[in-house]
Amino acid sequence: MTPGETSFVKFSPPLIGEAEIAEVVATLRSDWITAGPKTRRFEQDFQDYVRAPGALGLNSCTAALHTTLLTLGIGQGDEVITTPLTFAASINVIEHVGATPVLVDVASDTLNISEEQIEKAITPQTRAIIAVHFAGHPVELDTIKAIADQHRLDLIEDAAHALGASYKGVPIGGEGNPTAFSFYATKNLTTGEGGMLTGNPEFLDKARIMSLHGLSRQAWQRYEEGGSWRYDVAQPGFKYNMTDIQAAIGIWQLKKFEKIQARRQQIYHMYLDAFNHMGEIELPVIRTNVKHAWHLFCLRLNTNYLTIGRDQFINELTQRKIGTSVHFIPIHLHSYYARKYGYKPLDFPKAHGSYERILSLPLNAKMSDDEVGRVIEAVDDIVCLKRRRAAA
Ligand SMILES: *Cc1c(COP(=O)(O)O)cnc(C)c1O
Repeated sequence: MTPGETSFVKFSPPLIGEAEIAEVVATLRSDWITAGPKTRRFEQDFQDYVRAPGALGLNSCTAALHTTLLTLGIGQGDEVITTPLTFAASINVIEHVGATPVLVDVASDTLNISEEQIEKAITPQTRAIIAVHFAGHPVELDTIKAIADQHRLDLIEDAAHALGASYKGVPIGGEGNPTAFSFYATKNLTTGEGGMLTGNPEFLDKARIMSLHGLSRQAWQRYEEGGSWRYDVAQPGFKYNMTDIQAAIGIWQLKKFEKIQARRQQIYHMYLDAFNHMGEIELPVIRTNVKHAWHLFCLRLNTNYLTIGRDQFINELTQRKIGTSVHFIPIHLHSYYARKYGYKPLDFPKAHGSYERILSLPLNAKMSDDEVGRVIEAVDDIVCLKRRRAAA
């Protein structure tokens, strides 16, 4: 870099240290590189961390959600209630099992599924609710659990954003219902690709079989000393297991997770403090009964007070070498879902309205104070330049 040239502030680079690298190398030099002893250890460590009754390492959060629906026997003719403001994976898995997604609009403060609107969406076909903890802010679990219990529905949590979060003091995953975590490259804890499904042991025993070809016995036990070559396929399962190479990374990511979270929380609050006074920016809201996971910092522009919209705001940030993202393009705007279910943009006005003016700022444990300062300065600068002046 030449003097005076500033580097791009990346949106979400992974924070991988020497310990992860050494553990991967040691795994590669060992005699077992797929699901085996390291995966078991990571599962145990993870289970202890979120205080879950059990944990199953998989190759993605998507796989964890799909495995959950299969294991619960949800399929053709069934309906699953969820939010439009999520990543496509949360809904695609419902399509994969042949069930029908039923979308419920979001609450305007947290952008999580509006718990007040869930009951109106329940029909005799409803089997489950997939609750997504948007940006790392837990959904209103007590209310949603009560609705699920009353209507005998399964509650599934998409906790891709929510590792480290808690609801009324209980870590996400600690309630015992099926909960899916993501270790994708941009998530708070990463294994490159990877996921974890937590839940009770009887459920996870079935899920484990479903996630490994439907085999009656663990593949790695088959090849172990004293293991048997004999196995049975009771159903055609999928190939979703985690590998020991992924687990090698996860074990060390988890060891430093509290530190990662402390830094993310710090940056989140630097943003809150910096933008607090700006009427042009609507800040994220944190309800009092939760601990946030600090996964995404999503702000919404008060476009009435600005001469530019979200897209132009992002362009301005890009010009100042600041990486951004948009979470999410609501499900009902994607062509497949719009076509199949005849959705119109305003069918979910809160999700759509938020989408039009939302953007996510860089938030990751690798950021320096200097980079955080550059993001704040850039936002400040754009707001000052593009502020709508009162007509003279
Ligand atoms: C990232 C993400 C997923 C998918 O996670 P993968 O591990 O990539 O399968 C699912 N849901 C949400 C809300 C996500 O952000």
